[in-house]
Amino acid sequence: MFKKILIANWKEHPKSGREAVKIFGAAMRAKTPKNIKTVVCPPFVYLEKCASTAVRRPNAKGRAALGAQDVFWKDEGPYTGEVGPAMLRALGVAYVIIGHSERRRWLGETDAMVNKKIGAALGAGLRVVLCVGEPAGVRKKGIAAAQKFVKDQLAKDLRGISSDKKIARRVVVAYEPIWAIGTGDSADPADVRAMAVFIKKQLSFLFKSPAASRRSFVLYGGSVNGKNIADYLQYEAVDGALVGGASLKADEWKKMVEAIKTLR
Ligand code: PEP
Repeated sequence: MFKKILIANWKEHPKSGREAVKIFGAAMRAKTPKNIKTVVCPPFVYLEKCASTAVRRPNAKGRAALGAQDVFWKDEGPYTGEVGPAMLRALGVAYVIIGHSERRRWLGETDAMVNKKIGAALGAGLRVVLCVGEPAGVRKKGIAAAQKFVKDQLAKDLRGISSDKKIARRVVVAYEPIWAIGTGDSADPADVRAMAVFIKKQLSFLFKSPAASRRSFVLYGGSVNGKNIADYLQYEAVDGALVGGASLKADEWKKMVEAIKTLR
């Protein structure tokens, strides 16, 4: 079983397919030991190219899994512009980010929509990376306010999701305080650890299983890079990182993998 997960969220980058293959190739070349799982989430339009790059390198040491940045809750139908879970599965996608704060902010994604997406993605056999996290205004009120915000998000986003062990295990939660994303203002590592423990407790409650807090994966996201990743992942409760900006730079990716390797 792997110990840490490193997920690249490319967001709306890069502008060309050629560049996408280059960045993906670099991620594939970063030698990752068995205890580090890497996942790369390019924009939809590059998934196929990246999937075929992966197929051409079946023995690559740092073989990254493929993830998508969003999914719709229907497999097929009159939903212009949407991409369904079955389509992603057919491309070899294993993970999908759901509920990223940028989608909640710019696309008006609500908790009800996030909830439907999670149900559909899990139903199709995908692993879900559910993003939660408080805005700056809430954080200013203190840790308790931030925890309440995250607790409410988890309750709404995971409402009615099966607590079947095999399904619950496929839900990864990324704690991404909104004020830390893309700002360089990364969260305090000890606060992140406390939030990860808190999230695991909530998952135990929501999935009606004390063991869920042990089994579940909670990541941190928010201005993570090669320099600071170990500050977060040194804690047992923090199972990995969801990385935006730094994941597009081959040297930073390598540094992050190297930093995780040094952790005991
Ligand atoms: C993200 O996109 O989820 C993210 C955390 O971005 P960044 O690493 O750039 O802050």
